[in-house]
Amino acid sequence: MLQSLQLVQPTTVDEASEALADFGEKAKIYAGGAELLLMLRHGLLQAEVLVDVKKLERLRRMSADDGVLRIGACVTHHALENSALVREHAPSLAHAEAQVANVRVRNQGTLGGNLAFNDPHSDPGAVLLVHNAAVTIGNEAGERRIALDEFFVDMYATVLEPGDLLLDVEIPALPAGMKSAYLRLHRYQRPTLGIAVGAKMSNGAVEEVRLAVGCAGPRAKRLTELETKLRGTKLSDARRILAREKNYLRQILRPVDDLLGGADYKLYMTGVMLGDALEEAAQGNSAPH
Ligand SMILES: Cc1cc2nc3c(=O)[nH]c(=O)nc-3n(C[C@H](O)[C@H](O)[C@H](O)COP(=O)(O)OP(=O)(O)OC[C@H]3O[C@@H](n4cnc5c(N)ncnc54)[C@H](O)[C@@H]3O)c2cc1C
Repeated sequence: MLQSLQLVQPTTVDEASEALADFGEKAKIYAGGAELLLMLRHGLLQAEVLVDVKKLERLRRMSADDGVLRIGACVTHHALENSALVREHAPSLAHAEAQVANVRVRNQGTLGGNLAFNDPHSDPGAVLLVHNAAVTIGNEAGERRIALDEFFVDMYATVLEPGDLLLDVEIPALPAGMKSAYLRLHRYQRPTLGIAVGAKMSNGAVEEVRLAVGCAGPRAKRLTELETKLRGTKLSDARRILAREKNYLRQILRPVDDLLGGADYKLYMTGVMLGDALEEAAQGNSAPH
């Protein structure tokens, strides 16, 4: 049973920041509630006040300007999956969003809630890292912008401090000629692995590449050293490199045994699926819809 909670429904970011500052530790930000209500019900989190941020217009907005897609924190997975803007600007994100859980969770859950909660078994993080995404965080003192790579800290941990509100996510377009792919491995609803790749090919070789892996370990990670090694290689050589880089992948991804798969299995499949995703991106098959 949920204990009774006070619900505060600010209509502006300033009001929300003020409420969060006033109530301090007693307050929790309430977006879709897909995770929050479960945590409260199971006693894993305590709160007296819920600050409902779904009505904040800025957090519900989606726009694209100068090659940068901006998504408000309260835009749902369902809206992202179906957005023509997202499909055009970041097709792999739309593809990843379409695979989140089930239609109930996609209707309820928001991108901001997903990133703020930072459950290791999540879809959007890896794709957003390939796009070099950044987030804007607000609090009573003002706003700050930070790369998503720095925003994710560890399993269920981000740089968000009490009083901080994730406002929006900034997603730059991929460089001209780069195509992307997102591949997902799953036994249950949540992904066991999420593999995101951006690749630009030239004369059958990799000219530029971005690789990110989610779900294997505590947080989604870019594989920048491996990206450097793949530049200039043919696809078949790139596959061989990816398959033999287990030590690097283990060190960067820190895979863990859990209900969704063993660490060795995740590591092996990461090598295989990075090769598959690279091939898919190289062939320009990134738009699944
Ligand atoms: C059964 C189930 C299956 C799922 N499967 C998947 C899956 O396959 N792939 C996947 O990626 N995800 C999956 N999820 C996670 C789902 O995507 C998240 O639950 C959802 O995105 C969280 O968003 P929310 O709006 O519901 O957040 P809430 O539950 O409202 O909040 C989650 C946490 O983030 C905080 N928070 C929320 N919004 C903000 C904000 N703007 N600023 C700061 N802090 C904030 C809250 O205080 C809370 O601590 C699953 C969840 C469930 C329950």
